[in-house]
Amino acid sequence: MADEKESLNFIEQIIEEDLASNKHGGVVITRFPPEPNGYLHIGHAKSICLNFGVAQKYGGRTNLRFDDTNPVTEDTEYVDSIKADIRWLGFDWDDREYYASDYFPQLYEWAIKMIESGKAYVDDSTAEEIAGSKGTPTEPGKESPYRQRPEEESLDLFKRMRAGEFPEGTRVLRAKIDMTSPNMHMRDPVMYRIKFAHHHRTGDTWCIYPMYDFAHGQSDSIEKVTHSLCSLEFENHRPLYDWFIQALDIYPSRQIEFARLNVEYMLTSKRKLLRLVNEGFVRGWDDPRMSTISGMRRRGYTPASIRAFADRVGIAKRENVIEFSLLEYCVREDLNKIASRVMAVLDPLKMVITNYPAGQTEYLPTENNPEDPDAGLREIPFGKELYIERDDFLEDPPKKYFRLAPGKMVRLKSAYIVECTDVIKDASGIIQEIHVRYFPESKSGNDTSGIKVKGTIHWVAATKALDCEVRLYDRLFTVPNPSDDPQRDFTEFYNQESLQVIKHAKVEPGVATASLRQSFQFLRKGYFTLDPDSSAERLVFNLTVTLKDTWAKMAAKEQPA
Ligand code: ATP
Ligand code: MG
Repeated sequence: MADEKESLNFIEQIIEEDLASNKHGGVVITRFPPEPNGYLHIGHAKSICLNFGVAQKYGGRTNLRFDDTNPVTEDTEYVDSIKADIRWLGFDWDDREYYASDYFPQLYEWAIKMIESGKAYVDDSTAEEIAGSKGTPTEPGKESPYRQRPEEESLDLFKRMRAGEFPEGTRVLRAKIDMTSPNMHMRDPVMYRIKFAHHHRTGDTWCIYPMYDFAHGQSDSIEKVTHSLCSLEFENHRPLYDWFIQALDIYPSRQIEFARLNVEYMLTSKRKLLRLVNEGFVRGWDDPRMSTISGMRRRGYTPASIRAFADRVGIAKRENVIEFSLLEYCVREDLNKIASRVMAVLDPLKMVITNYPAGQTEYLPTENNPEDPDAGLREIPFGKELYIERDDFLEDPPKKYFRLAPGKMVRLKSAYIVECTDVIKDASGIIQEIHVRYFPESKSGNDTSGIKVKGTIHWVAATKALDCEVRLYDRLFTVPNPSDDPQRDFTEFYNQESLQVIKHAKVEPGVATASLRQSFQFLRKGYFTLDPDSSAERLVFNLTVTLKDTWAKMAAKEQPA
Protein backbone atom coordinates (compact mmCIF):
# COMPACT_ATOMS: atom_id res chain seq x y z
CA MET A 1 0.00 0.00 0.00
CA ALA A 2 1.07 3.56 -0.63
CA ASP A 3 2.66 5.39 2.26
CA GLU A 4 1.45 8.84 1.32
CA LYS A 5 -2.26 8.86 2.01
CA GLU A 6 -2.87 12.27 0.52
CA SER A 7 -1.54 11.23 -2.88
CA LEU A 8 -4.26 8.61 -3.35
CA ASN A 9 -6.92 9.26 -5.94
CA PHE A 10 -10.53 8.73 -4.94
CA ILE A 11 -10.64 5.23 -6.41
CA GLU A 12 -7.55 4.18 -4.48
CA GLN A 13 -9.10 5.63 -1.35
CA ILE A 14 -12.20 3.50 -1.80
CA ILE A 15 -10.09 0.42 -2.48
CA GLU A 16 -7.95 1.01 0.60
CA GLU A 17 -11.06 1.41 2.74
CA ASP A 18 -12.51 -1.79 1.32
CA LEU A 19 -9.26 -3.63 1.95
CA ALA A 20 -9.13 -2.31 5.50
CA SER A 21 -12.69 -3.45 6.20
CA ASN A 22 -12.07 -6.74 4.39
CA LYS A 23 -15.18 -6.08 2.35
CA HIS A 24 -14.21 -8.29 -0.57
CA GLY A 25 -12.08 -10.74 1.37
CA GLY A 26 -8.98 -8.63 0.94
CA VAL A 27 -8.69 -9.01 -2.82
CA VAL A 28 -8.84 -6.51 -5.66
CA ILE A 29 -10.16 -7.71 -8.99
CA THR A 30 -10.74 -5.23 -11.78
CA ARG A 31 -11.52 -5.73 -15.44
CA PHE A 32 -11.08 -3.91 -18.69
CA PRO A 33 -14.29 -4.43 -20.69
CA PRO A 34 -13.95 -3.31 -24.31
CA GLU A 35 -16.65 -3.85 -26.85
CA PRO A 36 -14.89 -5.32 -29.88
CA ASN A 37 -16.44 -2.90 -32.35
CA GLY A 38 -13.40 -0.78 -33.15
CA TYR A 39 -9.79 -0.11 -32.28
CA LEU A 40 -8.79 1.19 -28.88
CA HIS A 41 -8.06 4.88 -28.48
CA ILE A 42 -6.30 7.15 -26.01
CA GLY A 43 -9.35 7.07 -23.70
CA HIS A 44 -9.19 3.30 -23.51
CA ALA A 45 -5.47 3.56 -22.82
CA LYS A 46 -6.37 5.65 -19.80
CA SER A 47 -8.89 3.05 -18.65
CA ILE A 48 -6.39 0.21 -19.20
CA CYS A 49 -3.70 1.99 -17.20
CA LEU A 50 -6.21 2.64 -14.43
CA ASN A 51 -7.66 -0.87 -14.23
CA PHE A 52 -4.40 -2.78 -14.59
CA GLY A 53 -2.45 -0.18 -12.64
CA VAL A 54 -4.66 -0.15 -9.57
CA ALA A 55 -4.84 -3.96 -9.42
CA GLN A 56 -1.05 -4.16 -9.71
CA LYS A 57 -0.66 -1.63 -6.95
CA TYR A 58 -2.79 -3.65 -4.53
CA GLY A 59 -1.56 -7.10 -5.53
CA GLY A 60 -4.79 -7.88 -7.37
CA ARG A 61 -5.76 -9.09 -10.82
CA THR A 62 -7.31 -7.63 -13.91
CA ASN A 63 -9.50 -9.55 -16.33
CA LEU A 64 -9.82 -8.77 -19.97
CA ARG A 65 -13.48 -9.11 -20.83
CA PHE A 66 -14.91 -8.49 -24.23
CA ASP A 67 -18.37 -7.04 -23.86
CA ASP A 68 -19.54 -8.65 -27.06
CA THR A 69 -23.30 -8.48 -26.71
CA ASN A 70 -23.98 -6.76 -30.01
CA PRO A 71 -23.28 -9.23 -32.83
CA VAL A 72 -23.85 -6.70 -35.60
CA THR A 73 -20.91 -4.38 -35.01
CA GLU A 74 -18.40 -6.80 -33.55
CA ASP A 75 -15.56 -8.56 -35.21
CA THR A 76 -12.55 -10.76 -34.43
CA GLU A 77 -10.28 -8.28 -36.19
CA TYR A 78 -11.10 -5.91 -33.35
CA VAL A 79 -10.58 -8.58 -30.71
CA ASP A 80 -7.08 -9.25 -32.02
CA SER A 81 -6.15 -5.59 -32.26
CA ILE A 82 -7.41 -4.92 -28.73
CA LYS A 83 -5.28 -7.72 -27.30
CA ALA A 84 -2.21 -6.56 -29.19
CA ASP A 85 -2.72 -3.00 -27.99
CA ILE A 86 -3.07 -3.92 -24.31
CA ARG A 87 0.05 -6.09 -24.45
CA TRP A 88 1.95 -3.35 -26.21
CA LEU A 89 0.96 -0.92 -23.47
CA GLY A 90 2.69 -3.28 -21.08
CA PHE A 91 -0.18 -5.10 -19.36
CA ASP A 92 -1.11 -8.74 -19.13
CA TRP A 93 -4.31 -10.56 -18.21
CA ASP A 94 -2.65 -14.02 -18.09
CA ASP A 95 -5.31 -16.61 -18.84
CA ARG A 96 -8.19 -14.41 -17.77
CA GLU A 97 -9.55 -13.64 -21.20
CA TYR A 98 -13.32 -13.60 -20.93
CA TYR A 99 -16.24 -12.87 -23.19
CA ALA A 100 -19.70 -11.72 -22.22
CA SER A 101 -20.88 -14.09 -24.96
CA ASP A 102 -19.53 -16.99 -22.89
CA TYR A 103 -22.12 -16.01 -20.31
CA PHE A 104 -25.07 -16.11 -22.72
CA PRO A 105 -26.34 -19.46 -21.37
CA GLN A 106 -26.11 -18.18 -17.78
CA LEU A 107 -27.78 -14.89 -18.68
CA TYR A 108 -30.57 -16.77 -20.41
CA GLU A 109 -31.12 -18.85 -17.30
CA TRP A 110 -31.22 -15.75 -15.18
CA ALA A 111 -33.74 -14.17 -17.52
CA ILE A 112 -35.96 -17.23 -17.09
CA LYS A 113 -35.56 -16.97 -13.34
CA MET A 114 -36.65 -13.36 -13.43
CA ILE A 115 -39.74 -14.14 -15.49
CA GLU A 116 -40.63 -16.91 -13.08
CA SER A 117 -40.35 -14.59 -10.12
CA GLY A 118 -42.50 -11.96 -11.81
CA LYS A 119 -39.63 -9.51 -12.41
CA ALA A 120 -39.61 -9.66 -16.19
CA TYR A 121 -42.18 -9.93 -18.97
CA VAL A 122 -42.35 -10.35 -22.70
CA ASP A 123 -43.63 -7.21 -24.40
CA ASP A 124 -45.21 -7.46 -27.87
CA SER A 125 -45.06 -3.70 -28.41
CA THR A 126 -43.03 -2.31 -31.27
CA ALA A 127 -39.82 -0.41 -30.64
CA GLU A 128 -41.67 2.84 -31.39
CA GLU A 129 -44.45 2.03 -28.94
CA ILE A 130 -41.93 1.26 -26.23
CA ALA A 131 -39.99 4.44 -26.91
CA GLY A 132 -43.26 6.40 -27.00
CA SER A 133 -44.38 5.19 -23.59
CA LYS A 134 -41.03 5.80 -21.86
CA GLY A 135 -41.98 9.30 -20.78
CA THR A 136 -39.41 12.02 -20.31
CA PRO A 137 -37.10 12.86 -17.41
CA THR A 138 -39.88 15.11 -16.04
CA GLU A 139 -42.91 13.03 -17.01
CA PRO A 140 -43.52 9.45 -15.91
CA GLY A 141 -43.79 6.68 -18.49
CA LYS A 142 -46.84 4.54 -19.23
CA GLU A 143 -47.09 0.88 -18.44
CA SER A 144 -47.18 -1.52 -21.35
CA PRO A 145 -50.48 -3.36 -21.98
CA TYR A 146 -48.44 -6.59 -21.78
CA ARG A 147 -46.94 -5.79 -18.41
CA GLN A 148 -49.47 -7.82 -16.46
CA ARG A 149 -49.55 -10.88 -18.70
CA PRO A 150 -49.24 -14.15 -16.75
CA GLU A 151 -45.74 -15.40 -16.00
CA GLU A 152 -46.37 -18.70 -17.82
CA GLU A 153 -47.29 -16.79 -20.96
CA SER A 154 -44.13 -14.68 -20.81
CA LEU A 155 -42.09 -17.79 -20.17
CA ASP A 156 -43.56 -19.57 -23.14
CA LEU A 157 -43.10 -16.57 -25.43
CA PHE A 158 -39.50 -16.01 -24.28
CA LYS A 159 -38.60 -19.62 -24.98
CA ARG A 160 -40.17 -19.34 -28.41
CA MET A 161 -38.26 -16.11 -29.01
CA ARG A 162 -35.13 -18.08 -28.29
CA ALA A 163 -36.28 -20.90 -30.58
CA GLY A 164 -36.51 -18.45 -33.46
CA GLU A 165 -40.28 -18.46 -33.88
CA PHE A 166 -40.70 -14.69 -34.13
CA PRO A 167 -39.25 -12.12 -36.48
CA GLU A 168 -36.95 -9.36 -35.30
CA GLY A 169 -38.61 -6.40 -33.67
CA THR A 170 -41.82 -8.21 -32.75
CA ARG A 171 -41.12 -8.89 -29.08
CA VAL A 172 -38.65 -8.05 -26.34
CA LEU A 173 -38.08 -9.12 -22.78
CA ARG A 174 -38.37 -6.27 -20.30
CA ALA A 175 -37.60 -5.94 -16.62
CA LYS A 176 -40.64 -5.10 -14.53
CA ILE A 177 -39.40 -2.26 -12.39
CA ASP A 178 -41.10 1.13 -12.29
CA MET A 179 -42.44 3.20 -15.18
CA THR A 180 -42.63 6.26 -12.93
CA SER A 181 -39.04 6.14 -11.70
CA PRO A 182 -37.20 9.44 -12.04
CA ASN A 183 -34.33 7.39 -13.45
CA MET A 184 -35.27 6.58 -17.05
CA HIS A 185 -33.10 3.47 -17.00
CA MET A 186 -35.42 2.00 -14.37
CA ARG A 187 -38.55 2.32 -16.54
CA ASP A 188 -38.87 -1.32 -17.50
CA PRO A 189 -35.65 -1.51 -19.51
CA VAL A 190 -35.34 -4.02 -22.33
CA MET A 191 -33.30 -7.08 -21.33
CA TYR A 192 -33.38 -9.12 -24.52
CA ARG A 193 -34.14 -8.46 -28.16
CA ILE A 194 -34.51 -10.74 -31.18
CA LYS A 195 -31.64 -10.53 -33.63
CA PHE A 196 -31.02 -13.05 -36.37
CA ALA A 197 -27.40 -12.12 -36.55
CA HIS A 198 -24.25 -14.17 -36.74
CA HIS A 199 -22.07 -13.62 -33.69
CA HIS A 200 -18.29 -13.62 -34.07
CA ARG A 201 -17.98 -16.24 -31.33
CA THR A 202 -21.31 -17.96 -30.79
CA GLY A 203 -22.10 -18.19 -34.49
CA ASP A 204 -25.82 -18.86 -35.06
CA THR A 205 -26.48 -20.42 -31.65
CA TRP A 206 -28.54 -17.45 -30.56
CA CYS A 207 -31.20 -15.36 -32.18
CA ILE A 208 -31.90 -13.38 -29.03
CA TYR A 209 -29.20 -11.23 -27.51
CA PRO A 210 -29.05 -9.61 -24.06
CA MET A 211 -28.85 -5.84 -23.88
CA TYR A 212 -25.59 -4.41 -22.59
CA ASP A 213 -27.36 -3.38 -19.38
CA PHE A 214 -28.49 -6.93 -18.72
CA ALA A 215 -25.02 -8.32 -19.40
CA HIS A 216 -22.47 -5.93 -18.03
CA GLY A 217 -23.19 -5.97 -14.31
CA GLN A 218 -23.85 -9.72 -14.31
CA SER A 219 -20.58 -10.35 -16.14
CA ASP A 220 -18.76 -8.43 -13.41
CA SER A 221 -20.63 -10.48 -10.87
CA ILE A 222 -19.81 -13.83 -12.51
CA GLU A 223 -16.13 -12.89 -12.50
CA LYS A 224 -16.36 -11.64 -8.92
CA VAL A 225 -14.94 -8.31 -9.94
CA THR A 226 -14.55 -6.33 -6.74
CA HIS A 227 -14.23 -2.85 -8.22
CA SER A 228 -15.88 -2.20 -11.54
CA LEU A 229 -14.43 1.06 -12.80
CA CYS A 230 -16.35 2.75 -15.56
CA SER A 231 -16.91 6.13 -17.07
CA LEU A 232 -19.40 8.67 -15.71
CA GLU A 233 -22.13 8.02 -18.25
CA PHE A 234 -22.84 4.77 -16.43
CA GLU A 235 -23.60 6.45 -13.14
CA ASN A 236 -27.32 6.44 -14.01
CA HIS A 237 -27.15 2.78 -14.91
CA ARG A 238 -25.78 1.78 -11.53
CA PRO A 239 -29.20 1.57 -9.80
CA LEU A 240 -30.33 -0.76 -12.57
CA TYR A 241 -27.24 -2.99 -12.25
CA ASP A 242 -27.77 -3.11 -8.51
CA TRP A 243 -31.43 -3.98 -9.04
CA PHE A 244 -30.52 -6.94 -11.27
CA ILE A 245 -27.87 -8.09 -8.81
CA GLN A 246 -30.42 -8.03 -5.99
CA ALA A 247 -33.16 -9.65 -8.03
CA LEU A 248 -30.80 -12.49 -8.92
CA ASP A 249 -29.08 -12.57 -5.56
CA ILE A 250 -25.58 -12.73 -7.06
CA TYR A 251 -22.14 -11.36 -6.18
CA PRO A 252 -22.29 -7.58 -5.75
CA SER A 253 -19.44 -5.90 -7.61
CA ARG A 254 -18.94 -2.29 -6.67
CA GLN A 255 -19.18 0.11 -9.57
CA ILE A 256 -17.17 3.33 -9.36
CA GLU A 257 -17.46 6.00 -12.01
CA PHE A 258 -14.71 8.32 -13.18
CA ALA A 259 -14.58 11.01 -15.84
CA ARG A 260 -13.71 9.99 -19.38
CA LEU A 261 -10.47 11.27 -20.73
CA ASN A 262 -10.82 13.94 -23.39
CA VAL A 263 -7.76 15.29 -25.16
CA GLU A 264 -7.65 18.30 -27.46
CA TYR A 265 -7.55 17.40 -31.16
CA MET A 266 -8.10 13.72 -30.36
CA LEU A 267 -11.39 11.91 -30.90
CA THR A 268 -12.41 9.44 -28.24
CA SER A 269 -15.36 7.86 -29.95
CA LYS A 270 -14.96 4.68 -31.93
CA ARG A 271 -17.95 5.61 -34.05
CA LYS A 272 -16.30 8.84 -35.16
CA LEU A 273 -12.91 7.20 -35.64
CA LEU A 274 -14.62 4.62 -37.85
CA ARG A 275 -16.04 7.43 -39.95
CA LEU A 276 -12.57 8.92 -40.44
CA VAL A 277 -11.44 5.54 -41.72
CA ASN A 278 -14.48 4.79 -43.88
CA GLU A 279 -14.69 8.26 -45.37
CA GLY A 280 -11.02 8.27 -46.31
CA PHE A 281 -9.80 11.10 -44.10
CA VAL A 282 -7.05 8.82 -42.86
CA ARG A 283 -5.36 5.71 -44.27
CA GLY A 284 -6.67 3.35 -41.63
CA TRP A 285 -7.18 2.78 -37.93
CA ASP A 286 -3.43 2.92 -37.44
CA ASP A 287 -2.85 6.13 -39.35
CA PRO A 288 -0.28 8.01 -37.26
CA ARG A 289 -2.65 10.98 -36.92
CA MET A 290 -5.30 8.84 -35.27
CA SER A 291 -5.95 8.88 -31.55
CA THR A 292 -5.98 5.07 -31.60
CA ILE A 293 -3.34 3.13 -29.71
CA SER A 294 -2.29 1.55 -33.00
CA GLY A 295 -1.99 4.99 -34.58
CA MET A 296 0.07 6.32 -31.69
CA ARG A 297 2.31 3.25 -31.89
CA ARG A 298 2.87 3.80 -35.60
CA ARG A 299 3.55 7.45 -34.93
CA GLY A 300 6.34 6.47 -32.55
CA TYR A 301 4.75 7.18 -29.19
CA THR A 302 6.12 4.73 -26.67
CA PRO A 303 4.14 2.67 -24.15
CA ALA A 304 6.07 4.35 -21.34
CA SER A 305 5.08 7.79 -22.56
CA ILE A 306 1.40 6.89 -22.78
CA ARG A 307 1.49 5.36 -19.31
CA ALA A 308 3.22 8.47 -18.00
CA PHE A 309 0.54 10.59 -19.63
CA ALA A 310 -2.27 8.56 -18.06
CA ASP A 311 -0.54 8.98 -14.73
CA ARG A 312 -0.14 12.72 -15.02
CA VAL A 313 -3.74 13.20 -16.11
CA GLY A 314 -4.90 11.39 -12.99
CA ILE A 315 -8.43 10.37 -12.15
CA ALA A 316 -11.18 12.95 -12.13
CA LYS A 317 -14.83 12.93 -11.16
CA ARG A 318 -15.73 15.66 -13.59
CA GLU A 319 -15.29 15.84 -17.34
CA ASN A 320 -12.43 18.00 -18.55
CA VAL A 321 -10.26 18.37 -21.62
CA ILE A 322 -6.53 17.75 -21.44
CA GLU A 323 -4.11 19.72 -23.59
CA PHE A 324 -2.52 17.81 -26.43
CA SER A 325 0.80 19.38 -25.50
CA LEU A 326 0.83 17.38 -22.25
CA LEU A 327 0.84 14.15 -24.25
CA GLU A 328 3.58 15.50 -26.49
CA TYR A 329 5.56 16.51 -23.45
CA CYS A 330 5.38 12.96 -22.08
CA VAL A 331 6.46 11.55 -25.44
CA ARG A 332 9.43 13.91 -25.67
CA GLU A 333 10.46 13.16 -22.13
CA ASP A 334 10.69 9.46 -22.83
CA LEU A 335 12.25 9.73 -26.29
CA ASN A 336 14.85 12.16 -25.08
CA LYS A 337 16.24 9.37 -22.94
CA ILE A 338 16.12 6.56 -25.48
CA ALA A 339 16.24 7.93 -29.03
CA SER A 340 19.51 7.79 -30.97
CA ARG A 341 20.55 11.11 -32.42
CA VAL A 342 21.13 11.18 -36.14
CA MET A 343 21.37 13.84 -38.80
CA ALA A 344 18.75 14.07 -41.51
CA VAL A 345 18.09 16.83 -43.98
CA LEU A 346 14.44 17.24 -44.85
CA ASP A 347 14.73 19.92 -47.53
CA PRO A 348 18.17 19.35 -49.04
CA LEU A 349 20.37 22.07 -50.45
CA LYS A 350 23.71 20.97 -51.86
CA MET A 351 26.85 22.43 -50.32
CA VAL A 352 30.23 22.02 -52.04
CA ILE A 353 33.42 22.50 -50.04
CA THR A 354 35.72 23.91 -52.68
CA ASN A 355 38.94 23.39 -50.75
CA TYR A 356 38.15 19.81 -49.65
CA PRO A 357 39.87 17.02 -51.66
CA ALA A 358 37.55 15.44 -54.22
CA GLY A 359 36.87 11.76 -53.66
CA GLN A 360 37.93 11.86 -50.02
CA THR A 361 35.70 10.57 -47.23
CA GLU A 362 36.61 10.92 -43.61
CA TYR A 363 34.69 9.53 -40.67
CA LEU A 364 33.98 11.81 -37.76
CA PRO A 365 32.96 10.67 -34.29
CA THR A 366 29.69 11.98 -32.90
CA GLU A 367 27.55 11.23 -29.86
CA ASN A 368 24.67 8.80 -30.14
CA ASN A 369 22.78 10.31 -27.25
CA PRO A 370 24.15 12.98 -24.95
CA GLU A 371 21.41 12.08 -22.41
CA ASP A 372 22.59 8.50 -22.14
CA PRO A 373 26.17 8.02 -20.90
CA ASP A 374 26.21 4.43 -22.20
CA ALA A 375 25.08 5.25 -25.72
CA GLY A 376 28.62 5.89 -26.99
CA LEU A 377 29.82 7.38 -30.25
CA ARG A 378 29.38 6.58 -33.90
CA GLU A 379 31.33 7.65 -36.95
CA ILE A 380 29.64 9.60 -39.68
CA PRO A 381 30.99 10.14 -43.18
CA PHE A 382 32.08 13.59 -44.30
CA GLY A 383 33.13 14.64 -47.80
CA LYS A 384 33.40 17.37 -50.36
CA GLU A 385 29.68 17.47 -51.13
CA LEU A 386 27.13 17.73 -48.41
CA TYR A 387 23.45 18.49 -48.01
CA ILE A 388 22.25 21.07 -45.57
CA GLU A 389 18.73 22.24 -44.79
CA ARG A 390 17.56 24.79 -47.36
CA ASP A 391 16.35 27.10 -44.64
CA ASP A 392 19.73 27.07 -42.93
CA PHE A 393 20.95 29.37 -45.67
CA LEU A 394 19.67 32.88 -46.39
CA GLU A 395 21.02 35.06 -49.12
CA ASP A 396 19.92 38.20 -47.41
CA PRO A 397 19.86 37.41 -43.70
CA PRO A 398 18.41 39.58 -40.96
CA LYS A 399 20.72 40.86 -38.25
CA LYS A 400 20.79 38.11 -35.69
CA TYR A 401 20.85 35.25 -38.16
CA PHE A 402 23.48 32.77 -37.00
CA ARG A 403 23.18 30.20 -39.75
CA LEU A 404 24.76 30.37 -43.19
CA ALA A 405 24.74 33.41 -45.48
CA PRO A 406 27.12 34.80 -48.11
CA GLY A 407 30.45 35.63 -46.43
CA LYS A 408 29.25 34.17 -43.11
CA MET A 409 30.58 31.25 -41.12
CA VAL A 410 28.83 28.42 -39.37
CA ARG A 411 29.87 25.18 -37.73
CA LEU A 412 28.82 21.89 -39.23
CA LYS A 413 27.77 19.69 -36.34
CA SER A 414 30.60 17.37 -35.22
CA ALA A 415 32.71 18.54 -38.19
CA TYR A 416 34.27 21.81 -39.31
CA ILE A 417 33.59 25.50 -39.58
CA VAL A 418 32.75 26.61 -43.11
CA GLU A 419 32.45 29.98 -44.73
CA CYS A 420 30.09 30.67 -47.63
CA THR A 421 31.93 31.93 -50.69
CA ASP A 422 29.48 31.53 -53.54
CA VAL A 423 25.82 30.98 -54.36
CA ILE A 424 24.93 29.10 -57.54
CA LYS A 425 21.46 29.74 -59.01
CA ASP A 426 19.53 28.45 -61.95
CA ALA A 427 18.05 30.66 -64.68
CA SER A 428 14.94 31.36 -62.62
CA GLY A 429 16.97 32.50 -59.65
CA ILE A 430 16.44 29.43 -57.46
CA ILE A 431 19.50 28.50 -55.45
CA GLN A 432 21.01 25.24 -56.77
CA GLU A 433 23.98 24.90 -54.50
CA ILE A 434 26.23 26.90 -52.30
CA HIS A 435 29.98 26.86 -52.20
CA VAL A 436 31.96 27.13 -49.02
CA ARG A 437 35.51 26.78 -47.86
CA TYR A 438 36.30 24.90 -44.72
CA PHE A 439 38.92 25.41 -42.04
CA PRO A 440 40.81 22.12 -41.50
CA GLU A 441 42.05 23.21 -38.09
CA SER A 442 38.48 23.81 -36.82
CA LYS A 443 37.59 20.12 -36.45
CA SER A 444 35.11 19.50 -33.63
CA GLY A 445 36.75 18.26 -30.48
CA ASN A 446 40.15 19.50 -31.67
CA ASP A 447 39.52 23.05 -32.76
CA THR A 448 42.69 25.16 -32.85
CA SER A 449 41.37 27.67 -35.37
CA GLY A 450 40.46 30.35 -32.90
CA ILE A 451 37.45 31.16 -35.07
CA LYS A 452 34.25 31.91 -33.19
CA VAL A 453 30.90 31.20 -34.78
CA LYS A 454 27.46 31.51 -33.26
CA GLY A 455 25.59 28.86 -35.22
CA THR A 456 25.76 25.10 -35.67
CA ILE A 457 23.83 23.33 -38.37
CA HIS A 458 23.29 19.70 -39.29
CA TRP A 459 24.27 18.10 -42.60
CA VAL A 460 24.75 14.78 -44.35
CA ALA A 461 27.43 13.64 -46.83
CA ALA A 462 25.89 13.73 -50.33
CA THR A 463 27.38 10.51 -51.67
CA LYS A 464 26.76 8.48 -48.53
CA ALA A 465 23.36 9.72 -47.35
CA LEU A 466 20.29 7.56 -47.85
CA ASP A 467 17.36 8.92 -49.75
CA CYS A 468 14.20 8.48 -47.70
CA GLU A 469 10.58 9.47 -47.34
CA VAL A 470 9.53 11.51 -44.36
CA ARG A 471 5.92 11.98 -43.31
CA LEU A 472 5.23 15.04 -41.24
CA TYR A 473 2.08 15.16 -39.16
CA ASP A 474 0.12 17.97 -37.66
CA ARG A 475 -3.09 18.03 -35.62
CA LEU A 476 -5.86 16.13 -37.35
CA PHE A 477 -8.31 18.97 -36.76
CA THR A 478 -8.18 22.71 -37.08
CA VAL A 479 -9.88 23.23 -33.71
CA PRO A 480 -9.14 21.56 -30.36
CA ASN A 481 -12.67 20.21 -29.87
CA PRO A 482 -14.14 19.36 -33.26
CA SER A 483 -17.17 17.62 -31.74
CA ASP A 484 -18.27 20.62 -29.72
CA ASP A 485 -20.09 22.54 -32.45
CA PRO A 486 -23.67 21.25 -32.66
CA GLN A 487 -24.18 22.97 -36.01
CA ARG A 488 -21.27 21.34 -37.77
CA ASP A 489 -20.05 17.83 -38.35
CA PHE A 490 -16.63 17.17 -36.83
CA THR A 491 -15.22 16.23 -40.23
CA GLU A 492 -15.68 19.84 -41.33
CA PHE A 493 -12.76 20.64 -39.05
CA TYR A 494 -10.45 18.15 -40.72
CA ASN A 495 -7.01 19.69 -41.11
CA GLN A 496 -6.09 19.40 -44.79
CA GLU A 497 -2.48 20.02 -43.84
CA SER A 498 -2.32 17.28 -41.24
CA LEU A 499 -0.11 15.14 -43.48
CA GLN A 500 2.83 16.43 -45.47
CA VAL A 501 4.98 13.94 -47.37
CA ILE A 502 8.60 14.68 -48.16
CA LYS A 503 9.65 12.31 -50.92
CA HIS A 504 13.38 12.93 -50.93
CA ALA A 505 14.86 13.65 -47.58
CA LYS A 506 18.44 12.62 -46.83
CA VAL A 507 19.53 10.77 -43.74
CA GLU A 508 22.91 9.56 -42.57
CA PRO A 509 23.66 5.98 -43.70
CA GLY A 510 23.82 4.33 -40.27
CA VAL A 511 20.03 4.18 -39.98
CA ALA A 512 19.88 1.57 -42.75
CA THR A 513 20.06 -1.10 -40.05
CA ALA A 514 17.30 0.44 -37.93
CA SER A 515 14.52 -1.79 -36.73
CA LEU A 516 10.84 -1.09 -37.03
CA ARG A 517 9.59 1.36 -34.39
CA GLN A 518 13.10 2.37 -33.44
CA SER A 519 13.05 6.02 -32.47
CA PHE A 520 15.53 8.59 -33.64
CA GLN A 521 16.05 12.19 -32.92
CA PHE A 522 16.79 13.95 -36.18
CA LEU A 523 18.96 16.73 -34.80
CA ARG A 524 17.18 20.07 -34.66
CA LYS A 525 14.09 18.56 -36.30
CA GLY A 526 12.27 16.25 -33.97
CA TYR A 527 11.75 12.63 -33.06
CA PHE A 528 11.09 10.24 -35.89
CA THR A 529 10.38 6.56 -36.16
CA LEU A 530 10.57 4.02 -38.93
CA ASP A 531 7.19 3.34 -40.52
CA PRO A 532 6.10 -0.22 -41.44
CA ASP A 533 5.88 0.97 -45.06
CA SER A 534 9.70 0.96 -45.08
CA SER A 535 11.51 -1.60 -47.19
CA ALA A 536 15.16 -2.53 -47.61
CA GLU A 537 15.25 -0.23 -50.64
CA ARG A 538 13.45 2.67 -49.16
CA LEU A 539 13.12 3.97 -45.62
CA VAL A 540 9.99 5.79 -44.54
CA PHE A 541 10.00 7.85 -41.37
CA ASN A 542 7.14 9.28 -39.36
CA LEU A 543 7.43 12.46 -37.40
CA THR A 544 6.62 11.49 -33.83
CA VAL A 545 6.92 14.88 -32.20
CA THR A 546 8.89 18.03 -32.86
CA LEU A 547 11.67 19.32 -30.64
CA LYS A 548 11.78 22.40 -28.60
CA ASP A 549 14.74 24.70 -28.64
CA THR A 550 17.47 22.19 -29.34
CA TRP A 551 19.18 24.46 -31.79
CA ALA A 552 20.10 26.97 -29.14
CA LYS A 553 21.34 24.24 -26.84
CA MET A 554 23.43 22.56 -29.49
CA ALA A 555 25.04 25.81 -30.57
CA ALA A 556 26.00 26.58 -26.99
CA LYS A 557 27.58 23.16 -26.62
CA GLU A 558 29.72 23.10 -29.78
CA GLN A 559 31.05 26.58 -29.48
CA PRO A 560 34.59 26.61 -28.05
CA ALA A 561 34.59 28.80 -24.98
P1 ATP B 1 -16.57 4.58 -27.59
O1 ATP B 1 -17.48 5.71 -27.26
O2 ATP B 1 -15.30 5.01 -28.21
O3 ATP B 1 -17.25 3.47 -28.33
P2 ATP B 1 -16.92 3.01 -25.31
O4 ATP B 1 -16.90 3.49 -23.93
O5 ATP B 1 -18.21 2.60 -25.87
O6 ATP B 1 -16.14 4.03 -26.19
P3 ATP B 1 -15.91 0.43 -24.75
O7 ATP B 1 -15.23 -0.52 -25.62
O8 ATP B 1 -17.26 0.11 -24.25
O9 ATP B 1 -15.93 1.80 -25.53
O10 ATP B 1 -14.96 0.86 -23.54
C1 ATP B 1 -14.20 -0.04 -22.78
C2 ATP B 1 -13.81 0.64 -21.51
O11 ATP B 1 -13.05 1.80 -21.78
C3 ATP B 1 -15.03 1.09 -20.72
O12 ATP B 1 -14.82 0.74 -19.38
C4 ATP B 1 -15.05 2.57 -20.90
O13 ATP B 1 -15.58 3.21 -19.79
C5 ATP B 1 -13.57 2.90 -21.09
N1 ATP B 1 -13.42 4.12 -21.86
C6 ATP B 1 -13.87 4.35 -23.11
N2 ATP B 1 -13.59 5.60 -23.49
C7 ATP B 1 -12.94 6.19 -22.46
C8 ATP B 1 -12.38 7.49 -22.24
N3 ATP B 1 -12.44 8.45 -23.15
N4 ATP B 1 -11.77 7.73 -21.05
C9 ATP B 1 -11.70 6.76 -20.12
N5 ATP B 1 -12.21 5.54 -20.27
C10 ATP B 1 -12.82 5.23 -21.42
MG1 MG C 1 -19.32 1.03 -24.79
